[in-house]
Amino acid sequence: VNEFALIERFFAAQPVARADVVLGIGDDAALTRVPPGQELALTTDTLVAGVHFLADAEPADLGYRALAVNLSDLAAMGAEPAWFLLNLTLPVPDERWLTGFCAGLYELARAHGAQLVGGNTARGPLNIGITAAGLVPAGAALTRRGALAGDRVYVTGELGDAALALRHRLGVYPLAAADFAAVRPRLDRPTARVAQGLKLRGLASAAIDVSDGLLADLGHVLAASGVGARLELARLPLSATYRAHLNAVGWEPALAHGDDYELCFTVPAARVAAVEALRPQLGCRLSAIGEIVAAPGLALLDPAGRPYRPRAAGHDHFAQ
Ligand SMILES: [Mg+2]
Repeated sequence: VNEFALIERFFAAQPVARADVVLGIGDDAALTRVPPGQELALTTDTLVAGVHFLADAEPADLGYRALAVNLSDLAAMGAEPAWFLLNLTLPVPDERWLTGFCAGLYELARAHGAQLVGGNTARGPLNIGITAAGLVPAGAALTRRGALAGDRVYVTGELGDAALALRHRLGVYPLAAADFAAVRPRLDRPTARVAQGLKLRGLASAAIDVSDGLLADLGHVLAASGVGARLELARLPLSATYRAHLNAVGWEPALAHGDDYELCFTVPAARVAAVEALRPQLGCRLSAIGEIVAAPGLALLDPAGRPYRPRAAGHDHFAQ
């Protein structure tokens, strides 16, 4: 018995069946239909054991997270998830692991109507690669490029909880059980802000998802747009749990860790009212955290209005 025939059975039985899939899993390639006037948004992301997750991570969380990080990239483009491909490298085909992995993967796929249309399995160190495709009306995609001086900078949700959960799990900064329970889903099951990204089409001048930390990711927007920004730390959206630890951990986990998968976007003054009007239907917090300025660079102001220099500016994953 080919051990990979076992693996493939798990993926043949997947739950989403889209009308625009002409040919799904099982041939040399999948065939899908792109509606006239739509563009394809394509993205790929890989999770590597020991780098992006701990070796003993729950398989259901891994399945969920592997797809979520890809859907988050589609969200940042204002694209609607449609199809995805899975490249899975496993040390051994383990039925229990695959059952859990598929449960998490398909839970999120079902929630977004995204269909697995193909993939590949191989033997080796655990590695989960997903390539996702989304649809967006031609010319309507959000990019990193359009921010202009005077635009307001917004972020969805809350920042830093995933970093706190990881620090607890690594034993770097232990949390009480209730605090860990509050922040843990933000690390294990990040929410891709797909619905929010769709609502921002035609409103945001630039957008990105916060995967590597607000400073690094907003930095990509600033570089692509040829502008700078000024952010006020007092306006950073922090959870009650994070606020309780702010004195001990500082601003850095919220600014520079990543894994939050919130959307950071810019809005021209003329469209701020339209974005503010979205609040009741957005389904998450929305915070104006600063503004785009003409001079390059990212300036931070502490709650007293003084310049603040962060201790770390990028993504550190397991580097602590
Ligand atoms: Mg991204």
